[in-house]
Amino acid sequence: MKKIAILGAGYGGVAAAKALHKIYKKNHDVEITLFDRNPFHTLMTELHEVAGGRTEPESVQVSLEKIFGGKRVNVKIETIQTIRFAQNTLVGKEGEYTYDYLVLGPGAEPEYFGIAGAKEHSFSLWSYDDAVLLRRHIEDQFLKASREANDARRRRHLTFTVAGAGFTGMEMLGELLEWKKTLCVRYGVDEAEVSIVLVEAMTEILPILPKKLRENTMKFLAKKGAVIHLDTPITEVRGDGITVKGGSVIETDTLIWTCGVRGCEFAGKLDFQGGKEQGKSPLTEEETNLRFNILKKARLRSNEYMQSLEYDNVYVVGDVLWFSEKNRTLPQVVETALQTAECAAHNIAAEIAGQPKKAFRSNYHGFMVSVGSKFAVAHVMGLVLTGFMAMAMKHLVNFHYLWEVAGVNACWEYAQHHFFQVKAGRSQIGNQAANKTPSYWLLPIRIALGAIWVVEVLEKVFKGWLDPSKGPVSSWMFSPGVHQAGWSVDGATAATAAGADAAASGAAAATDAATAATAATADAAVAGAGQAIDLLKSMANPILPSDLFLVQWMRWFMDTFMSQVNYVVLQYGVVCMEGAIALALLGGTFTWVAGVVSLVLCLNFTLAGYFTWNTAWMIFASVTVLGGAGRVLGLDAWIMPWLHRWWNGTGIAKKTYWYVGEPRRRK
Ligand code: NAD
Repeated sequence: MKKIAILGAGYGGVAAAKALHKIYKKNHDVEITLFDRNPFHTLMTELHEVAGGRTEPESVQVSLEKIFGGKRVNVKIETIQTIRFAQNTLVGKEGEYTYDYLVLGPGAEPEYFGIAGAKEHSFSLWSYDDAVLLRRHIEDQFLKASREANDARRRRHLTFTVAGAGFTGMEMLGELLEWKKTLCVRYGVDEAEVSIVLVEAMTEILPILPKKLRENTMKFLAKKGAVIHLDTPITEVRGDGITVKGGSVIETDTLIWTCGVRGCEFAGKLDFQGGKEQGKSPLTEEETNLRFNILKKARLRSNEYMQSLEYDNVYVVGDVLWFSEKNRTLPQVVETALQTAECAAHNIAAEIAGQPKKAFRSNYHGFMVSVGSKFAVAHVMGLVLTGFMAMAMKHLVNFHYLWEVAGVNACWEYAQHHFFQVKAGRSQIGNQAANKTPSYWLLPIRIALGAIWVVEVLEKVFKGWLDPSKGPVSSWMFSPGVHQAGWSVDGATAATAAGADAAASGAAAATDAATAATAATADAAVAGAGQAIDLLKSMANPILPSDLFLVQWMRWFMDTFMSQVNYVVLQYGVVCMEGAIALALLGGTFTWVAGVVSLVLCLNFTLAGYFTWNTAWMIFASVTVLGGAGRVLGLDAWIMPWLHRWWNGTGIAKKTYWYVGEPRRRK
């Protein structure tokens, strides 16, 4: 039995575990274990949304149970404190774990460049905890400002400073510019008192992007009122402000430090002594310098197979990796993590199988940066996009990633957080897809639909539908509807005629001068009534005319196939089905299923040319009740949670990711 351990459930670790599962899903001689201190994978690229109050904290969590519940990957929630490479052992808080192969993906941490006070007095944005802490702090500053009478102190509370105009900084800045409006209203703060400041050491923002995108972003930021200081390195940070080059001071209670990252502290402390390099000839000066720089950054080197230089059975992936491809160090981005993980997984399997390993080849598609929920810039596959299209591209890429990680469930959750459950219109399409309708507004339509199916069942039963000797008897839904409507039409005609007569006699009694005008009004009234009658008549017409090909085909289908079914069975079957729909809707029990069956029946009747416009509302009502209409005054309030729990524990749900919400945890 070979044991493969993966340390870190970031982008690299999760990708490596999934790739290894794919290779070994039928091979029980290999055991794969993923270690992480958190029970979830964090969507690091969306942390700014949580920190900036756009989405809820759970929007950046994908539980490891969800991802690996149906996979041949053991998940161990554990804090690994160190690694004894010589003994192939991970040392954790709870125990020690041996491995044959190790994939190291512990990630990165903010880099402070030794700037005084930077680490102690700033907020970072590089973990789930960071995002939640920052979110609370920002809101707290508005609360404090609302209670503060002293102008200078209030301004300090309301000055939010982002250090660094890289991707993280720009994304955070965008959220602050957007969120401040909501917070000002909530805490009764004057928007003019709020300052959102960007401080960047270089003369450009987002240097990695083409000039046009940088200019577009600058224009957008200016329009939104950001205060931008370029060419302004921060030299000192205190609890109440920062000092920049030249000695100027910015007073602020909130400094968000996004000035770059280094390998994590854990990686920096790992002891690689005793590896291959022992006994080798001394390193050249260049190698020594490089090694020093890399270690200073707490990054771990690998060869082109992602194998660490020190131990053949240790592979390195993601942000912690230091690998130069064609003299260019791989950037610390998600694509690097995914591609290095894929390479490492492939090469471990090759090693186990005694096959040749493959060298890493990067294949980057580009970069996307969102600045708030509606504006983004993207440079992807040669395309240079700004605004709506760039944002759409970012969502698309996120959907693609989530589909790979946890399929339909993760995509659904993402859609919920970014489109359906948005607050203050903070989505690319504003509130247009926001689903805020409480279930109790659906109750009347559910009851009405249920009642109408009861009527239909009663009609069928009492009109002799179930009696083979009488043959099929039309119900109110179909042709009798025409008679009923016809009856109404007769009434309406009479009423209209009477109205017209009255109008006419009124006209006769009027003065000569007014006669012509009154007659014209009467004519118009008669014409209007005539149109109303036509409308009423047309309401009694079938939705689809009987000479339509589709209708004829449907009737042929029914005559040919349905007629094969025993008459009594068929009639009883239909009545029972309609009765079940009625009961389900009235009791709010399996309402979704009842709604679907009701819809299918209605569409079937429409296609067969029976359904009239009078009954068309049932089609729409059937759709409406699908939206959780049974959760209010209905048994679904109890049945559905139970059913979801059962379903989420099944193998099919686990394997296909068709979970409803969160999966059931393994014991
Ligand atoms: P970064 O290295 O991309 O940018 C840091 C910025 O801070 C630089 O512009 C730098 O000039 C500035 N800076 C450094 N020291 C400073 C000082 N003392 N005062 C003022 N400014 C200073 O860092 P990041 O934005 O944190 O990103 C880290 C990594 O994560 C990068 O590789 C980035 O590409 C990646 N990332 C990617 C995405 C994405 O693809 N959407 C999002 C976030 C992060």
